[in-house]
Amino acid sequence: MSLTRKQFLSVSGSSLLGFSLFNAVNGYGSAAGIQPKRGSGKMSIEVKTKKLELAHTWTISRNSSNFKNNVFVKIERDGIVGYGEAAPNVRYGEDHELTTKKINEARSIFTDNELFHYMNIKEAMDSKILKQSCAKAALDIALMDWVGKALNVPLYQFFGLNPANAPLTSFSIGIDTPEVIKQKVREAEPYPLLKVKVGKPNDEEIIGAVRSVTDKPIRVDANEGWKTKEEALERILWLKSQGVEFIEQPMPAHMLEETAWVRERAGIPIMADEAVKTAADIPKLATAYDAINIKLMKSGGMLEAWRMIGMAKAMGMKIMLGCMIESSVAISAAAHLAPFVDWADLDGNLLIKNDPFSGVKVDHGKFVYNDKPGLGVEGKF
Ligand code: MG
Repeated sequence: MSLTRKQFLSVSGSSLLGFSLFNAVNGYGSAAGIQPKRGSGKMSIEVKTKKLELAHTWTISRNSSNFKNNVFVKIERDGIVGYGEAAPNVRYGEDHELTTKKINEARSIFTDNELFHYMNIKEAMDSKILKQSCAKAALDIALMDWVGKALNVPLYQFFGLNPANAPLTSFSIGIDTPEVIKQKVREAEPYPLLKVKVGKPNDEEIIGAVRSVTDKPIRVDANEGWKTKEEALERILWLKSQGVEFIEQPMPAHMLEETAWVRERAGIPIMADEAVKTAADIPKLATAYDAINIKLMKSGGMLEAWRMIGMAKAMGMKIMLGCMIESSVAISAAAHLAPFVDWADLDGNLLIKNDPFSGVKVDHGKFVYNDKPGLGVEGKF
């Protein structure tokens, strides 16, 4: 059967349109047609530690700090650069030197694989990097930034998410004297939601200081600070009377039965943070918690966070995306997944004075995404 010229144009035109759409989505469009396979050429991985300085001394129930040494990763292949970041956390036995060592040990996974095979790379990292999950996060974030840029799409689009669905982010108030807390709350004026750190003997004084300045919705994070179920319940019932939205990690992560006991009596959502790192932790937590706090540094990056979101949804649990003290690299990575969760607490970059990057921004608690591919971050590596 032969086609008329009109039929031929119609058929070839539509397939050309399909072809060019494919190319536009996949970033392969060029006058020369399909380019050689990308993501398998010569590559480089650079690793650097940067000292992030906090605007205020950062105190939670466990410890205090004035700065954080975060580890940055730059992956380059085929002229495309991907940025990643690790925020080592002492709670998980991490530090910047061990993190750097783990990143260096994982280099061969990247040189031996095509970068578009990111799920295979994730699994290879899962079996190679058993501790220092933040090292895995840095590599995973850089990898996904690279993939987004190679496909020429922002990562929220890559994951099929509408940025308009992202929840507002809260702004965190660390533990301090009542006077400083009042000052911090006044400085947080542009943010409609506050997350207040408690878990010290003077919790009532802290919340009293916050409430003397604002009636905004507040969330509370005890960071495992209450050591018995009776103490936790008493504090929670009082916090509930102060208009608190939910309670994060009331007791030590290993106290699952006690947490279940508290949750039955609390009448307010209880969220796991220190108790949950990866998807494998979630099923057992469903007996004691209503929600989980996913952080890329605990999960080991965006791909595991994505799996955790799916798992938590399947278990009927609510989800928050949280963070450590991080620059705009890791915060932007989490923000790209935020349209798929219930709550966001992505303010780590707002707490530091010398963010080396800019990316997803926050305006009165609302994420402002740009339409640049990948993470959409720019800055000085
Ligand atoms: Mg927490």
